[in-house]
Amino acid sequence: MDKLHLPGESIGIIGGGQLGQMMAASAKEKGFKVLVLDPTPNCSAAQVADEQIVAEYSDLPALIKLAKQVDVLTYEFENVDAEAIATVKQYTDVPQGTSALVVTQNRIREKNFLAEHGFPVVEHHIIQSKAEFKTSLEKMGMPAILKTVEGGYDGKGQLRIEDENYSKDFADELLESGICILEKQIDLYKEVSVVISGNKNGEQSIFPVIENEHERNILHISNCPAMIKPETQAKCLEVAEQIAKELHLVGTMCIEFFISTDHEVFVNEIAPRPHNSGHLTIESCNVSQFDTHILGVCNWPMPKVKLFSSALMVNLLGQHIYRAKKKIQDHVEWYFHDYGKGLAKPDRKMGHITILTDEIEATKEAIDKDPIWRKE
Ligand code: ADP
Ligand code: MG
Repeated sequence: MDKLHLPGESIGIIGGGQLGQMMAASAKEKGFKVLVLDPTPNCSAAQVADEQIVAEYSDLPALIKLAKQVDVLTYEFENVDAEAIATVKQYTDVPQGTSALVVTQNRIREKNFLAEHGFPVVEHHIIQSKAEFKTSLEKMGMPAILKTVEGGYDGKGQLRIEDENYSKDFADELLESGICILEKQIDLYKEVSVVISGNKNGEQSIFPVIENEHERNILHISNCPAMIKPETQAKCLEVAEQIAKELHLVGTMCIEFFISTDHEVFVNEIAPRPHNSGHLTIESCNVSQFDTHILGVCNWPMPKVKLFSSALMVNLLGQHIYRAKKKIQDHVEWYFHDYGKGLAKPDRKMGHITILTDEIEATKEAIDKDPIWRKE
């Protein structure tokens, strides 16, 4: 079913967080009806959608109910059950399929896919037991990072092993939770990402390279264009295009890269969905990563991306949002986004600010000094 989906039809979105919300907003602009499935009543996406089915993502009868009501189905995150998606395919069009999901929801499958296709990945060992962990760590040396294979995000399920004084308890906890992966810690020069979207006809829209700064493994600031060498940019764009091709990408995906201090490029991970680093495309480009997601899944032609202005995005976590709201009147240059989440828990992504500026460095410095983002 390589269907073209037109305004007036309905789009179902599994997951109702901020990514679903911004997808839904884009779909509404184009005249689609939007139904969201999420366990939290009045979740972020439901606030801009036509209807919400309140149910767990794993609730198969609820997923079937959603599928039966919509013309095309998509998802906002990678931890949807691929088998459930395969099941609901008989009731609706699921243009993204499940192959990108299956590859990216497990770090081992992801690393294997990348390595098999010749994409550069960080040295890593698969760890099935405490004994294997010990021998692998000896072989690899420190610093290293131990990661769970499934379900990690924002640095959750990760242990940094700088030296002998690492937390043995947390290592045990991760190792007991299932298979893990031990990665060599790269001496990072920079982290960047490439957002790319595709449709069933194999057309692609690719966004310029975005540079990312993390605080305690959570994305803090992104800017575009990335301030890296043109040949490194070209390499990242080329790798992203090839990965998208191999995965028969439909909709939006993001590839995170590490650039080492000796300017080597590694693929860190792939998110088969719009990405936090791509939020700045909403104001800075002719189309946003959410627009190209909707265009891709609806099989519309994929536009060439134009960056109208350099931009910087800074996240507003639970500990920042209240202070930031109080300062709105002082910042005409802010494009303020609030996801409408009920509870401002620490480290929870509550919103973001985008600033269009040619002064990326100066703007970053101002944010660094701003008490809104002070480290508690
Ligand atoms: P998540 O799924 O939580 O985003 P990542 O694997 O992307 O997990 O790791 C989160 C962050 O931790 C990265 O963006 C990077 O800053 C740091 N990190 C992870 N792995 C490595 C590594 N091998 N070398 C250096 N830094 C790393
Ligand atoms: Mg990551």
